[in-house]
Amino acid sequence: MSMSIDGLPPLRDVIERHGLQAKKALGQNFLLDLNLTGKIARSAGDLTNATVIEVGPGPGGLTRALLSNGARRVVAIERDERCLAALAEVSAHYPGRLEVISGDALKTDFAALASEAAADVVGQVGHGPVRIVANLPYNVGTELLVRWLTVADWPPFYASMTLMFQREVAQRIVAAPDSDAYGRLGVLAGWRTQARMAFDVPPQAFTPPPKVTSSVVHLEPRTTPLPADVKKLGRVTEAAFGQRRKMLRQSVKSLGGEALLERAGIDPTRRAETLSVEEFVRLTNAV
Ligand code: SAM
Repeated sequence: MSMSIDGLPPLRDVIERHGLQAKKALGQNFLLDLNLTGKIARSAGDLTNATVIEVGPGPGGLTRALLSNGARRVVAIERDERCLAALAEVSAHYPGRLEVISGDALKTDFAALASEAAADVVGQVGHGPVRIVANLPYNVGTELLVRWLTVADWPPFYASMTLMFQREVAQRIVAAPDSDAYGRLGVLAGWRTQARMAFDVPPQAFTPPPKVTSSVVHLEPRTTPLPADVKKLGRVTEAAFGQRRKMLRQSVKSLGGEALLERAGIDPTRRAETLSVEEFVRLTNAV
C-alpha cells in the first residue's frame, strides 16, 4: 500500500476502504490534498504547544495536518459515525494526541471541552493555547461562529479560530463599514476579534466540489473589546441592518429612534452600513 508524507495511507484509499461516500446532508466536501490541509494548519499559527479543537474531521485530512504540524493534542467532534474507524487509525498513528468525540457540534459545550482538554495536559509541560481549526460543514458554520463570538466569558476559552467558509460568508465576517458585505456578522466579529481573510480555496480542491469558492478566515479575540451587552448589541444590529437601505431614525425606531441616536451622538439620517463598530457599541450602550 502506498503511503502519504505523514506515513498514513492517502485519503482516497481511506475513503474507499471505509466506504465514506460524501453525504450532502452532512455538508461533506472533503479535502484530500495534504499540502492544502497543511496550509490551513499553518495559518492557525504556532501549534506546537496547542490544544486544537476541530469540528467535522471527516476522513481526517485536516486532522492529520494539524497533528503533523505539531499540535500537542487535537480534540475532534464528528457527527458521522462512518468516519470513526478511519479516525481511529489516525489516533493510533499519533498515540495520546488525538481524541475523537462522536457527536453533534451544535450540542457540544466547547468551553467545558476546552477546559477538560487543557486539564488533561496540565502538569506535563504546562498547557498551551486552545485553537479552533475547522473545515466547517456549511449548514452549521455560521451558527457555530456566532456562538463562539458571543460566549459569556471574555477573553474566551480559545486563542484563535481558523475556519473555512463559503467565500461570501467569509467576506461578511471580515467586512469593513461602507461595503455591501458589512452587516451583523461583521459588526460582531469586528467588535470581539481581529478577523482577516487567510486565503481562498477553489471548488476543485474538494471531493465532491461545492458550487462556490471557499475561504479560510483567521480570527483572534481582542483582549479588551469595547464594553457592551452582547444581546443588546444583537438587537441593535438586527434592527439597523433589518432595514439597511433606510435611515437609522427609521430602522431603529422601536429601540428609541431619533432620541436614541441623539444620545449616542449619531446623525439620524445615516444608514446602518456607514456605522463603525465603535458607533454600534455607542448606540447599544445608549439603549
Ligand atoms: N475536515 C474534513 C475535511 O476537511 O476534509 C471534512 C470537512 S466536511 C466540509 C464537514 C464535516 O463535518 C463532515 O465530516 C461532516 O460529517 C461533519 N459534520 C457535519 N455536521 C456536523 C455536526 N453538527 N457536528 C459535527 N460534525 C459535523
